[in-house]
Amino acid sequence: MSVAHIRESWDVIVVGGGITGAGVLSESVRMGLRALLLEKNDFAWGTSSRSSKLVHGGLRYLKEGRLHLTYESVCHRQRLLEEAPGLVEPIGFLMPVYRDRGPGRWSLAAGLTMYDLMAGRRAHRYYDAGGFAEMVPRLKTEHLAGGFRFMDAQVDDARLVQRLINEAGEKGGTALNYTEVTRVCRDAGGKVKGVSARGNETGDEKMLSAPVVINATGSWAETLHASPKKGLHLRPLRGSHLMLPAWRLPVHQALTLVHPDDERPLFIIPWEGALMLGTTDIDHKGDLSEEVVMDLREADYMIQCLRTYFPGEDLGLKDCIASYAGIRPVLSRGKKPPSEESREHVVWKENGLVTVTGGKLTTFRVLAADALRAASEWLPEGVSVKTDEPAFTPAPDMPKQRRGLGRSTWRRLCGRYGQAAPDMIAQADARDLVFIPGTFTLWAELPMLAQKEQIRHLSDLLMRRMRLGILAPAGGREHLDRIQALCRPVLDWDDARWQAERRMYTEHWQYAHAVPGANG
Ligand SMILES: Cc1cc2nc3c(=O)[nH]c(=O)nc-3n(C[C@H](O)[C@H](O)[C@H](O)COP(=O)(O)OP(=O)(O)OC[C@H]3O[C@@H](n4cnc5c(N)ncnc54)[C@H](O)[C@@H]3O)c2cc1C
Repeated sequence: MSVAHIRESWDVIVVGGGITGAGVLSESVRMGLRALLLEKNDFAWGTSSRSSKLVHGGLRYLKEGRLHLTYESVCHRQRLLEEAPGLVEPIGFLMPVYRDRGPGRWSLAAGLTMYDLMAGRRAHRYYDAGGFAEMVPRLKTEHLAGGFRFMDAQVDDARLVQRLINEAGEKGGTALNYTEVTRVCRDAGGKVKGVSARGNETGDEKMLSAPVVINATGSWAETLHASPKKGLHLRPLRGSHLMLPAWRLPVHQALTLVHPDDERPLFIIPWEGALMLGTTDIDHKGDLSEEVVMDLREADYMIQCLRTYFPGEDLGLKDCIASYAGIRPVLSRGKKPPSEESREHVVWKENGLVTVTGGKLTTFRVLAADALRAASEWLPEGVSVKTDEPAFTPAPDMPKQRRGLGRSTWRRLCGRYGQAAPDMIAQADARDLVFIPGTFTLWAELPMLAQKEQIRHLSDLLMRRMRLGILAPAGGREHLDRIQALCRPVLDWDDARWQAERRMYTEHWQYAHAVPGANG
């Protein structure tokens, strides 16, 4: 589908296909609106595939006194755990307490008690040094006083976006990737009447009309809508992650470590069969229209933290398999250190243009609802936001015929593909019902993703629809022949196109996801 083939007139046009735009599309469809989402790159290409993948209240925000943000996030974490099992899953979090550095036991206990109160149940526990060290063997025990365990949740961020887009599509919404909004169009009185959109692959340009345009372009929001608040602007803050193979460290629950240099918390998180180490928080000086890449300084900073806490492990950049970086859409007056900037979202509205930016993955429904409420004066009469309804179509029951797949694999498939999961597995060749090495993705998922999820480039498939690009060494280069064989029947690409796609993917991976300072 391309912009040339879609209708011209809509109730609402959403610009940006990250979590914020996908959330607005999903809520708009639930309200019965004719809704269109346009994304200039691939869905979740921006920050929404480059996060720490936590669905969390954010203990840090509590420490900063942002009680409302934490409470809102905790409530939405609970809802997402209930509404999207298999996609949003609980994860245990460990926080060691050392006698020679903060934070101390009692301040953490106070924060965690508050966190539990917000969630309505006690989910944290203190362990003495011996008990804590048993949960994280090989962790530095010198000065270790003990540590806490509490519960949070994690997600595949790009799949969260994609599930919202897929289900909105099933209910009548439309989403196009590689389609850029080049201009917001207005009538003689300055009222928004639609957008001019260009298919970045096809070159088609078309005027699309709608009484309201919702700008959900994250860090790019000010290119379509200048900040109405004097001195308040988007401050592009870069956060980067390194990926390690799971076998490299005995970390089976997320672990928070306080960096020895600046006392910032860093996470090491088991995710999809690998370990994710992050994140940094620095001003991004690069051009926002270009791919964001981590630098060697960030990589060294993170590895230094690991080496401090796992002194016997001889860890280095050589142990990492991939890297990725993203930009936080943070509103700032430019005076604070990056990590002290607020993560709250803003909504601006002006004559039919509504901008929603900032915030977090976790609270996407809050952002969507606030944006649509702000847009209500331009929406058809009688429609209202339905935030009490579940965000997702309930997943199917566990089938009786499981084709040899375990319960956790089924749960994962249903969480990612909802009602489409059983058919996909029923049609799969038995030889493809095994995991791609280093991941929890089945080979059988690839053809379905390639066929149904607007794959325009190999990188869409390998970086976002599934995450081989950050989970396997060298972006999974060794699997490209089998991937090509599996997807060839459903992607209309000839040999020359396959060759070009493989080359582009490999070059892109080397540029953006190889580990700085290691031989990718
Ligand atoms: C390092 C890091 C870690 C994070 N960790 C977490 C976490 O663990 N949990 C959490 O809840 N949050 C986390 N966040 C925050 C969260 O990831 C972001 O708040 C969220 O992804 C922002 O989503 P978005 O849709 O607003 O922006 P984006 O995902 O950036 O989407 C904006 C989209 O708009 C598109 N676009 C731009 N201009 C146009 C145009 N003219 N036409 C069409 N499309 C356009 C872009 O291509 C892009 O895809 C993290 C952020 C970072 C950087």
